[in-house]
Amino acid sequence: MNIHEYQAKALLRSYGAPVSDGRVVLRADEAKTAAGELDGPLWVVKAQIHAGGRGKGHFKEASAGEKGGVRLAKSVEEAAEMAHQMLGRTLVTHQTGPAGKQVNRIYIEDGSDIEQEFYLALLIDRKTSRVSVVTSTEGGMDIEEVAASTPEKILSFSIDPATGIQPFHGRRVAFALGLTGKQVGKCVDLLGKLYKCFIEKDAEMLEINPLILMPSGDLKCLDCKMGFDGNALYRQPDIAALRDETEEDPKELAASKFDLNYIALDGEIGCMVNGAGLAMATMDIIKLYGAEPANFLDVGGGATKEKVTEAFKIITSDPNVKGILVNIFGGIMRCDIIAEGVIAAVKEVGLQVPLVVRLEGTNVDLGKEIISTSGLNVIAADDLSDAAEKIVKAVKG
Ligand code: GDP
Ligand code: MG
Repeated sequence: MNIHEYQAKALLRSYGAPVSDGRVVLRADEAKTAAGELDGPLWVVKAQIHAGGRGKGHFKEASAGEKGGVRLAKSVEEAAEMAHQMLGRTLVTHQTGPAGKQVNRIYIEDGSDIEQEFYLALLIDRKTSRVSVVTSTEGGMDIEEVAASTPEKILSFSIDPATGIQPFHGRRVAFALGLTGKQVGKCVDLLGKLYKCFIEKDAEMLEINPLILMPSGDLKCLDCKMGFDGNALYRQPDIAALRDETEEDPKELAASKFDLNYIALDGEIGCMVNGAGLAMATMDIIKLYGAEPANFLDVGGGATKEKVTEAFKIITSDPNVKGILVNIFGGIMRCDIIAEGVIAAVKEVGLQVPLVVRLEGTNVDLGKEIISTSGLNVIAADDLSDAAEKIVKAVKG
């Protein structure tokens, strides 16, 4: 689960990490008061969406020369006017995709003087099963681009969970960034706070881009992106409360409420499968037969009739879905139960597109019989390749 920049900064502040003073604004008429509470003489007006690259992004229907989602203002009035301009508009960045994201919240910050911009991130490295530190002198830029063109400018190392964060970790970062004197100690202090926050809050990712060095010699987190482990949210109620559902795919949100593993994709064939491995194989074979999956959907081993119905609703609510493939292996789950669930779901939500069902495993004969005697227009398939071939043919002709 991701949170907004202003929420992440409030969290960092609570751990004593240096961030600017700022105010979040939900309505344009609040902007002037909010900006007036900050010292100036520089204000930063920042669109809050769950995507990076806002500064270099652009608004849909932008007027000529209009700036992106991070703007500098020289007065309270100018800051308020910028907030007014951005609220409700759609911001497109390289991370949002061409559809962009609607801006519903603005963060107005006390502007900082920048001497240098750095990159600093903590994330879970699946390969080492540890928290990794990634840092670079090339701050304020797209780190993927730095990694591709000048990988030598990135330092990355992991932290042993047995020792946790140590001062030498912070010194490694400081020296990689070219910090000297008192700045080194500040960097050690900052990394320690970031790590504490990361561990205590079950974060998956904490990215400061840019981390800045100010003319005063102090460090500051000027931008912050944070993501958290969804499976740990049950023990992080304060983090769970930061969830902004308007930032999430409505289909993925509905799926999470029914404990379905669902990821929306760009293709035309909706898939309902039990087991992540089988779901991957199903997506592969759809591609093999020349079509693209519209989603990844694992209904889980203990799928109930209600879950199957909900999964169906989610798949059919996607206008890109031109056909549905149900591929279920009855292990603990019996095929007749799945068949009944599919029939009930089809009866409830209707069926506007071809549906191919492939069942295998426990009680498969009974399951197939339920499908074939249901009177519904369901195409039965014998095995995985037969199923993929049939659904691709039904969709593509
Ligand atoms: P992003 O584009 O979504 O990554 O948003 P950032 O918060 O990283 O802002 C983009 C850029 O705006 C930064 O890299 C800075 O160059 C600039 N910026 C942001 N805040 C300030 C500030 O307080 N003062 C100055 N001078 N520039 C800022
Ligand atoms: Mg940034």
